[in-house]
Amino acid sequence: MQVYADNAATTKMSRTAIAAMLPCMETTYGNPSSLHTVGQRAAEALLAARETVADCLGCEAREITFTSGGSEADNQAILTAAHLGEAKGKKHIISTAFEHHAVLHTLKKLEKQGFTVTLLDVHENGMVTPEQVAAAIREDTCLVTVMYANNEIGSIMPIAEIGAVCRAKGVLFHTDAVQAAGHLHINVQEQNIDMLSLSGHKFHGPKGVGALYARKQIPLSTLIEGGAQERGKRAGTENLPAIVSMAAALREACDHMEENAAKVSALRDKLIAGLSQIPHSAVNGDGKHRLPGNVSFCFEGIEGESLLLLLDEKGICASSGSACTSGSLDPSHVLLAIGRPHEVAHGSLRLSLSEENTEAEIDYLLREIPPVVAYLREMSPVWKDLVSGKKSFLL
Ligand SMILES: *Cc1c(COP(=O)(O)O)cnc(C)c1O
Repeated sequence: MQVYADNAATTKMSRTAIAAMLPCMETTYGNPSSLHTVGQRAAEALLAARETVADCLGCEAREITFTSGGSEADNQAILTAAHLGEAKGKKHIISTAFEHHAVLHTLKKLEKQGFTVTLLDVHENGMVTPEQVAAAIREDTCLVTVMYANNEIGSIMPIAEIGAVCRAKGVLFHTDAVQAAGHLHINVQEQNIDMLSLSGHKFHGPKGVGALYARKQIPLSTLIEGGAQERGKRAGTENLPAIVSMAAALREACDHMEENAAKVSALRDKLIAGLSQIPHSAVNGDGKHRLPGNVSFCFEGIEGESLLLLLDEKGICASSGSACTSGSLDPSHVLLAIGRPHEVAHGSLRLSLSEENTEAEIDYLLREIPPVVAYLREMSPVWKDLVSGKKSFLL
């Protein structure tokens, strides 16, 4: 059996998304900037895609800029706020310790340019509160950027409330909604969001395409100079097949959001309940405010990487944290941010489900994972020390 349970890293494209892409290659293949008929058909398809994405977020089409993905959208949003702030002498930015590296590394770059960054602590349950944000805002704060939902532990932030705090204090609010878009209901007006990033491949659309919503009063800074595409805010001939496909995927995800969430969260809860039986384990993230597909655990006394390799042999595709940090031996910054000690953070497992997963697959996971954890523990010197009492259990 092959079980794909790494949907937070990327998703399989849906039939709808693939079908939407084909006409852009076969018939609407023109350059949307061309004045002739073939070009204008492409321009119409581009506008329709923009309207679809805007409709799914509750904003206007002209407030959507297409990008090469979530990372680019995060970079553009943060650098825009930084430039606007700098012009007014405001060089303080608030974010959280468990953001995606697209946000954290952009903030690091700004620190080198003289900005001050406050990274809010994340509570043990993976939450950041509006009160924390309110307390951190200063006279010179130009941006608050807090992710909508965390990609490793699945916790969902109180975005509307954080947005309200920022609105009241006149500070721009950006959210990295890459894990939320297509999975949770978003309305940028109701939730007081000034800028929002999303990415096609996290909701069954294609890779290498994303979008940045920015409230129309916000003049975006450009990352790529050149032609006048995307109202001059993102040069380069538009990736029309990917854009149209992403819009179709988002439409489909939003149209089926409730039924998908109900199905996926039932699978999630069954998996969490079953894996919780493993001794000396702990669920990461919040019990209630949790992405429908996210299952995140720490198992004491094992290495997440070894677990992944053995699970892969059984056809199980999972992750130990985020795809972006694999390859480095440091434990996940997200797990450290919620207070997991290094030793425990090393033994992490993330299973991220989609509506394509089945009950039979969950049963397979519940049958296969516990013996693999037990096998790794038997071979682990750390586990021997724990069992013999030489070291004490943390979980
Ligand atoms: C995947 C992801 C990104 C990066 O998106 P790309 O389209 O792969 O650049 C950013 N933020 C979060 C929370 C993500 O999960």
